[in-house]
Amino acid sequence: MVKETGFYDVLGVQTNASSEELKKAYRKLALKYHPDKNPTEGEKFKQISQAYEVLSDTQKREVYDRGGEKAIKEGGTGGGGGFSSPMDIFDMFFGGGGRMKNMVHTLTVSLEELYNGATRKLCLQKNIICDRCEGRGGRKGAVEVCSCCQGTGVQVQLHQILGNVVQQVSTLCMACHGQGQHISHKDKCKACGARKVLHQKKTLEVHIDRGMKDGQKIIFHGEGDQGPGLEPGDVIIVLDQREHPIYTREGENLIMSMELQLVEALCGFQKPVQTLDNRTLLITSHLGELIKPGAKKYVLNEGMPIHRRPFEKGRLIITFTVTFPEENFLPLNKLKLLERYLPRQIEDEDSEIMDADLYIYADLEDCDLPQERHHMYTIEDEDYHSSGGIQCQTS
Ligand SMILES: [Zn+2]
Ligand SMILES: [Zn+2]
Repeated sequence: MVKETGFYDVLGVQTNASSEELKKAYRKLALKYHPDKNPTEGEKFKQISQAYEVLSDTQKREVYDRGGEKAIKEGGTGGGGGFSSPMDIFDMFFGGGGRMKNMVHTLTVSLEELYNGATRKLCLQKNIICDRCEGRGGRKGAVEVCSCCQGTGVQVQLHQILGNVVQQVSTLCMACHGQGQHISHKDKCKACGARKVLHQKKTLEVHIDRGMKDGQKIIFHGEGDQGPGLEPGDVIIVLDQREHPIYTREGENLIMSMELQLVEALCGFQKPVQTLDNRTLLITSHLGELIKPGAKKYVLNEGMPIHRRPFEKGRLIITFTVTFPEENFLPLNKLKLLERYLPRQIEDEDSEIMDADLYIYADLEDCDLPQERHHMYTIEDEDYHSSGGIQCQTS
């Protein structure tokens, strides 16, 4: 007679259930209550898992039958609550996580490709189920379940550490090298050498949609490695955008810088810009418009296409720099002429009325190179502040 029937009840089996009956019950319930299918039934999933973990192990089942759940917990079937994680049990039962691992590839793309869209071919190597043996690894009927690990490929050993404390160690079954089965040499599949899978080269066509982004993933479901009894994994392509010499992308917008000569900044300009789809925009200032250094302007609808709305585009944002003419670009008399056209600050007009004797004239000198300047701030900090000289801006 068994002490309690809780674990048998959870699985809905009799106390004399065979290991086949236990497996069948677990398979049915675990699939029904797996968090993927039934996210609110986590507790139930855990109970099923724990019950199966104990009852499927002859030693633990004996302990449970004699002493109930309490005996299992005290018997030290491993640290931390005494049970494996329900997911591990599930994975072990259905084999390696139920799915093969995904294959992740990086695909380097240009900004032009993200702008215009593109199709790229990607060659990859993957494992496919051997078609000669249909993934059995040998002749039909020649495959024997490993008796050392009962086909799990894993051996669980209990090590007694201190008195009642027992450590549970799972190791790859040495008898079958984790395969969970044995195939005699003559029955091994000649095509795959009992590996059950073959290498295959596969070319995938990757469609890069207009407006896709750096780091975006393109997923090929089920195109990854195949393994016997498992769902194939996915191939995941991660886009990696190469830097562009002119444009930087910020979301839907494209950013570029434009260098203007002083005369262009003051008197207007037209400048051609090559778009990512090889059109030429003529960037034109408004009549009378003055562009200051660092000014930002934008052109509507010349940014990046928006993903899945490819005919809408963001903005093209232009940051301007202004280059001044060389020193002495004008003879002094012409400079006087130019001065007349340029506006002056009002204070300067006042200065003529003021007495020149009130001023101390200070000459301007060139500032040092940025590195030396930095040096001056850190090492000769004190001296610098007390000198009262004209300070150079640090940036
Ligand atoms: Zn084995
Ligand atoms: Zn084969």
